[in-house]
Amino acid sequence: MVLEDKFGRRINYLRLAVTDRCNLRCHYCLPEGFHNFLPKDHLLSFEEIIRLLRIVSSLGVTKLRITGGEPFVRKDLMTLLRMIHQEQLFESLHMTTNGVLTEPHIEELVTLGFKSINLSLDSLDRKRFLQITKRDEFERVMNTLLALEKSVIKTKINAVVMAEENTQDILPFVQFTQDHDVHVRFIEEMPFNGTGRQPKSTWNFKAIESHITSAFDLEPLTMAPGDTAQEYSIKGHIGSVGIIAAASRTFCGSCNRLRIGPRGDLQSCLYGPADTSLFDLFRSGADDLAIAERLTALVSRKPKDGFAAEKELVNSGERHASMATIGG
Ligand code: SAM
Repeated sequence: MVLEDKFGRRINYLRLAVTDRCNLRCHYCLPEGFHNFLPKDHLLSFEEIIRLLRIVSSLGVTKLRITGGEPFVRKDLMTLLRMIHQEQLFESLHMTTNGVLTEPHIEELVTLGFKSINLSLDSLDRKRFLQITKRDEFERVMNTLLALEKSVIKTKINAVVMAEENTQDILPFVQFTQDHDVHVRFIEEMPFNGTGRQPKSTWNFKAIESHITSAFDLEPLTMAPGDTAQEYSIKGHIGSVGIIAAASRTFCGSCNRLRIGPRGDLQSCLYGPADTSLFDLFRSGADDLAIAERLTALVSRKPKDGFAAEKELVNSGERHASMATIGG
């Protein structure tokens, strides 16, 4: 048994959200006042997570990303990461984090085999950071960024581009890559704020690209299958930049991803509805074969692309969840 959909796409990359809670309140993701968090006993336990990881690994998943909510808000996260390391199930381990609580753990993350970290940072300006995140944590995030840069972990910055909010940060971020060995990825804002509000952003891929090229000479690099970012090098810069057409959805054809949320809810496409049946399977004593069969069945129904998936979501009467429950 392997994870493959009806379009012949092999799924070898799992993004696992270990919590839906976060210590920031970015309005495009988890707005202030959001309170529909999962009860603690609905989170998969560490033992359940390890069991799930063994099963997905046996089905051909080779790459694992830990995400959330904010992964470091999950109690005893490092214990879970040590357990995952001991299993030696994956070719590569990655994490997406907001960097607030990350810096003290970087050395151990290296030991545990983390190859890259995506650090979410939407502004290089302290005041704007506070406006966007509603928390005064800029300094701790920058300390994480600088410590990551000194480590062997490849560092990518994820910056969501929002009209009238942080577009003035685009060029400073590109400038930052001149002397910093980081890869900055500009992400189109998607409607995953948990409120049903559509982003007002007119800052799509093309707009971001032409804004950058007005000031810098971008050299586009070839995209590999499964890549979501169009990457560019810039002459004289030690870092690089990329743009993710996350809302335009131009890269679905080679998607190799599967998302599993903190309760075990499975999303074969970011834009589609979640399947909630794994949690009950886990808690009702199902054996590994039954769980593997459910996973392969769900993945085989992966929608063709994000537009088809969104249609399924709308037809089922649901709306996009907060990204904190999905993991990005
Ligand atoms: N808390 C961690 C962090 O901030 O990196 C991990 C979870 S966060 C949901 C994962 C990624 O999703 C972040 O890079 C975040 O910027 C991105 N994200 C969240 N909501 C988004 C949205 N509405 N549009 C585009 N990207 C979004």
